Amino acid sequence: MISNNRQAIALISDHADPAAVIGTEEAGGQNVYVRQVGENLAALGWQVDMFTRKANPDDPTIVQHSPYCRTIRLKAGPETFIPRDRLFEHMPEFVKSFCDFQTSQAYYYPLLHTNYWLSAWAGLQLQQKTGIQLIHTYHSLGTVKYDAILEKPKIAQTRIATEKKILEQASCVVATSPQEKEILRTRVSQKGHIEIIPCGTDTSNFCAIPPLSARKKLGWHPQDKIVLYVGRFDPRKGIETLVRACAVLKNQGCDNLKLVIVGGSINDRIDGQERQRIEQIVQEMGLSEVTLFTGQVGHDLLPLYYSAADVCVIPSHYEPFGLVAIEAMACGTPVIASNVGGLRFTVLPEETGLLVSPKDVEAFAQAIERVLLDEVWAKKLRKQASANVNQRFTWNNVAIKLSHLYRYTLARTIMHEQPWNPPLTSPLWTPVPVAAEAKQ
Ligand code: UDP
Repeated sequence: MISNNRQAIALISDHADPAAVIGTEEAGGQNVYVRQVGENLAALGWQVDMFTRKANPDDPTIVQHSPYCRTIRLKAGPETFIPRDRLFEHMPEFVKSFCDFQTSQAYYYPLLHTNYWLSAWAGLQLQQKTGIQLIHTYHSLGTVKYDAILEKPKIAQTRIATEKKILEQASCVVATSPQEKEILRTRVSQKGHIEIIPCGTDTSNFCAIPPLSARKKLGWHPQDKIVLYVGRFDPRKGIETLVRACAVLKNQGCDNLKLVIVGGSINDRIDGQERQRIEQIVQEMGLSEVTLFTGQVGHDLLPLYYSAADVCVIPSHYEPFGLVAIEAMACGTPVIASNVGGLRFTVLPEETGLLVSPKDVEAFAQAIERVLLDEVWAKKLRKQASANVNQRFTWNNVAIKLSHLYRYTLARTIMHEQPWNPPLTSPLWTPVPVAAEAKQ
């Protein structure tokens, strides 16, 4: 039910279900982002309806997360898993189901925040029909993603065209880092409005646990040198580079090295194939005895894993933002990451970790060794890492910024085509204390 006292808005996240279990092929950072943004906006006084595609007949159509925040699963194609590269043909039905839902509620959302290009396409269709206000977050950009792929999927052209159109026609696009904004300007379009609002992390959950007590709970040895990977099994995550770097360290005589790989997969899906490929490399490199594949681990237990690790490694070839980096740092774990995308924004080299060239096995090995061998420096990194996240990347801050953006956008609609002033510098953007905001 739509509340009379609250402004209702819709978040659209075609494939990434905000109510899903996180950590497998199609469930990663975008699911976390939409769910956290939704719940935190509701806590600030909005009514938030999050729309996704129903991919399993056993899933409830509506999941109520809190009194003013819910996930609504729409019919769009068969109720079964469909990889996102093959979802486009079902998006017209998604738009129809969304319109039917609005009609059934006798409520028409004045503002849509779309996530990923398929949702952007749906948003653009709805904009044509109703003049709705659109805000968009990309999560991943075709133009960068396809650089690393020899054989582009058939859908590539449509995706790239939609990503350009949404930048030019949305009320505003949210870039999650200055690096993403620069790519949007140089590779997508010079037109359109962009605001930088980063992603966040739940610092009440992701916080430091004393490493020895975390290890005890996990049954890990206090003397082990633990190198941690957390994330999906996807070739663009570069897990192979990390495995090869660990082999270099082992061959150099690094004692007590242990590689822990956290992430779920399903055997006959793409992530299952990638896990098998990684397992094979682990075996070839003679690392089977020192490598642990944990499978999917929920956010409730992940703080233990991060806190127990000496270092968290993010060897991605491309990473639009990379929630794992801020989760690890929030738990006080130094991060060694590829010098790409949002990781260049979140990881502060020599302060909270190190950045190295993607795919550079030797450079990763050297960086990991530096953190493992210099205990005094590692302790300093741990301290700075959690301060960095607490100061820069909380969901509450993200929601406050988005809240300002939505209000500004809605006010501008009512005023009819006022010139766009960059909201972060306009008077409308004076930070509002959370308590006042909550009364909205
Ligand atoms: N994740 C999880 N359990 C796992 C593996 C990953 O909960 O077993 C979560 C991780 O904590 C993070 C998200 O999946 O919140 C991954 O987000 P990120 O932005 O790092 O990568 P993406 O999946 O968007 O490429």
